[in-house]
Amino acid sequence: MSKKVLFAASEIYPFAKTGGLADVAHSLPKALKHYVDMSVVMPLYSQIDRSKYGINKLEVSFDITMGSQTYPIALYDTVYDGIKYYFVYSPILCDREFLYGPPGMGYEDNAIRFGLFSHTIVRLASTHQIDLLHLNDWQCGLSALLIHQENLPIKSIFTIHNLAYQGVFDTTVLNNLGIDGRYCHMEAIEFYSKISFMKAGIAFSDAITTVSPTYAKEILTPEFGCGLEGFLKQHHSKLRGILNGIDNDHFSPKNDGALVHVYNDAKGKKKSKSALLKTLKMPGVSKPLFVFIGRFVHQKGMELLIETLPKMAALECNVAILGEGDESYHRHLEAICENYSNIHLTFGYIESLSHQMYAAADFLLMPSLFEPCGLNQMIAFAYGAVPIVHATGGLVDSVHKIEQFDSTSSKGYGIVFNTPSANALLRAIKKSLEFYSDTKRFSELVNHNMTIDLSWSVSADEYKRLYSSLTKENV
Ligand code: ADP
Repeated sequence: MSKKVLFAASEIYPFAKTGGLADVAHSLPKALKHYVDMSVVMPLYSQIDRSKYGINKLEVSFDITMGSQTYPIALYDTVYDGIKYYFVYSPILCDREFLYGPPGMGYEDNAIRFGLFSHTIVRLASTHQIDLLHLNDWQCGLSALLIHQENLPIKSIFTIHNLAYQGVFDTTVLNNLGIDGRYCHMEAIEFYSKISFMKAGIAFSDAITTVSPTYAKEILTPEFGCGLEGFLKQHHSKLRGILNGIDNDHFSPKNDGALVHVYNDAKGKKKSKSALLKTLKMPGVSKPLFVFIGRFVHQKGMELLIETLPKMAALECNVAILGEGDESYHRHLEAICENYSNIHLTFGYIESLSHQMYAAADFLLMPSLFEPCGLNQMIAFAYGAVPIVHATGGLVDSVHKIEQFDSTSSKGYGIVFNTPSANALLRAIKKSLEFYSDTKRFSELVNHNMTIDLSWSVSADEYKRLYSSLTKENV
């Protein structure tokens, strides 16, 4: 009989998404659903459209007590893409304007909110006789500890999507989390006189994965370990890097409902480019179009981008930017766009526009300072936009240097620069312009990148083997 796996995440596409975690939490369970008895759980945020997704309230409701407070929990469910989804509703967790907090901030009671979510995950797992819990990022980290505290016969995998977000809180909250004080020490959740939900996941899970092989090595170093490199080294034997994939159904220019013109080769992109430039009121369809899509945060190389943009503006090209995040980056970008007519900024999180931009773009800018995996570059391959990336984390594993282009290989190629500096980025951009001017070679590259396999097929096998080894039976 196949093993029962419960996959838990704090955001999942299409219900709620702020970044790549949501994409992975949708596509990975989907890729594994034929191998295990898979179900998924997430919070039922007030933004989620219950009627659109047929999300129904279940008869079961219960209370969870953490410290002296008791919280009411209602469970909901639906089936989406052939997978059973459970949704956890409790007012403190779900009735908020943002998932985690306003841009650049976290809600003050996030420890309680996601502590409650973690308790509910474990309750659900034990009442549903789950064999294996697959926990994602700090928001689910306490679940691994709770399995230990309650001595439950459930195995767990903890996946780190981004070590820079750790769920670190004041120790005073410990009493209100239903966690035994014996866990507040260095080998468990204590982190420099605070507590860390990420540490709970690392310490008490049976296996740890992160989202690319290179990032799995990087996080063991002080440069990328965010203070947890020593602790991760201690738990090194259960850590491995498995490269993310993307969902071919969701990210396919052949049948993407967000596009005005679907296409399947370099030639077919032209209409999408004209359509986007028209919408953005930017002339110059023959000029190369660069796009940046993402969170405006330090990680994504915003300083490099902001320093480079005025120099790019002087080149024969158009640039379109879509994103939201830190207020100061937003202000800088706005000021640049006011001065240069060939740079356009759209502020916000707009899924359909992002797809139109991937489709229209000749190049995707991704100067990330660190990147656990990155999905943008993979989506860019699928839509025929050539990624320009800093060689870090998952970008090293997924974007191969254009100089080594081999049309018979199954790899995706882009422009890769090694030093995270504005000069190196500008040199890479100039190289891309040269490349673009060789129309035949450029189309060959775009066509090649569009056909490579970016799906979960290989990585899902690795997860399958990991699930199997943890549950000690073939799943
Ligand atoms: P992150 O570090 O934000 O998780 P990833 O590269 O792993 O970065 O994934 C980002 C995902 O979010 C991609 O699907 C990307 O297209 C999408 N995305 C990022 N910013 C925006 C935005 N402003 N509007 C629409 N989609 C966005």
